[in-house]
Amino acid sequence: MATSSFTKKTLGLETAEPAVTPPPTGGHATTFVKKPKLGTAKSKKREIPEGLWTKCPKCSTMVFDKELDENLKVCSHCQHHFPIVSRERIHSMVETCTFEEMDADMTSVDVLGFTGAASYISKLEKYQKTTGLKDAVITGICKIGEHRAALGVMDFTFLGGSMGSVVGEKLARLIEKATEKGLPLIIISTSGGARMYEGMFSLMQMAKTCAALAYHGKAGLPYISVLTDPTMAGVMASFATVGDLIIAEPGAMIGFAGPRVIKDTTQAELPPGFQTAEFLLDHGLIDAIVSRKEMKSRLVEYMGYLTSGQKRVATAG
Ligand SMILES: [Zn+2]
Repeated sequence: MATSSFTKKTLGLETAEPAVTPPPTGGHATTFVKKPKLGTAKSKKREIPEGLWTKCPKCSTMVFDKELDENLKVCSHCQHHFPIVSRERIHSMVETCTFEEMDADMTSVDVLGFTGAASYISKLEKYQKTTGLKDAVITGICKIGEHRAALGVMDFTFLGGSMGSVVGEKLARLIEKATEKGLPLIIISTSGGARMYEGMFSLMQMAKTCAALAYHGKAGLPYISVLTDPTMAGVMASFATVGDLIIAEPGAMIGFAGPRVIKDTTQAELPPGFQTAEFLLDHGLIDAIVSRKEMKSRLVEYMGYLTSGQKRVATAG
């Protein structure tokens, strides 16, 4: 699904003949060579079917889509992480047939009667049709390695991964379920922020998710927050940054307001690499950068560390 948003390029548009006709060698210099007519240059056009190749935006290499899929949408030449949809991500991390989805049919209502260039209802219908999702997050209980865990995965393809009342409610219910069952929690975020179509109802989700997380933390249960490209605004200012461990994918854009807004407000030059995962690791906001291919094994490792205390208590009890 996500491949549709990648940059496509048709190969073989290079002209076979030089743009400028070379001067004749020897003989009379006054002889003029007939000027080639525009548009008659022979080109080596090859028809490449759409959807077979994707141009990497970082290293400009043409990557075979099948190879990209097999590599979890990571460029094998420069390790650029392409966007990945929620179902693909779940599939890459969760043990087969262990994902029990929660609240799969929960959908938003248009509380504000929002109208603009397009109504909120028509936007929702459009995105539900194109993505096959009901809203911008999938939640459920699953097994990752040997650990049972509560997992929430956001999806940027649904209205920019924006957090409205459904995203907030599904996550709050997931966190409460994790607290009730004594499970570690993992939330993989990608979001442009709170959903403007739901106004204050979107902003309320920030407090709601964080309150549920406070109870989860109070029960001594670990929460790992994974930030992927991009994680911004209301999501970044709430559940995404209160993890016991905060990890990010390489090159992910992470921040509150966008760089242009900050630059205009502060009237100052922003430092190089501003709002990237690497910059935030250097400045102590996140704990680790983990590549997508290593994500599952590292999460299993972290859950092992973070739940070992609980296991010792259980054994002693
Ligand atoms: Zn690349």
